[in-house]
Amino acid sequence: MNEKILVVEDNPLNMRLIEMTLRRRGYMLLMASDGQEAIKMALIERPDLIIMDIQLPGINGLDVTRKLRKTPPVSDTPIIGVTAYAMKGDREKIIEAGCDAYLSKPVDTRQLPELVARMLLTKHNNNPLS
Ligand code: MN
Repeated sequence: MNEKILVVEDNPLNMRLIEMTLRRRGYMLLMASDGQEAIKMALIERPDLIIMDIQLPGINGLDVTRKLRKTPPVSDTPIIGVTAYAMKGDREKIIEAGCDAYLSKPVDTRQLPELVARMLLTKHNNNPLS
């Protein structure tokens, strides 16, 4: 069965880029454009991995991540935090909120699928990320 990935992104162009990059690798994609929708979809669909834009309208990606981490069916789901404004301390904030990995924008269309594949493998092997 194809692995299910939830992409949370409010910018249509970024969404399209991520969608095309991952669809080509055979993943099944779910898409949400704000935090509320992301939480709802995560709970219903229980994706294998979540790609989380941090700058979102309404609830930001950090708060969405914190919320998911407290919600048992998805509390262990791997999350990649993505942000355009990588400032000093951002990576720490993103990891502290509960993300397992971090990517900066613009999304690198080679790096993203590599990271996704590695995290899904890690998840299946039930090993901590190294
Ligand atoms: Mn955004």
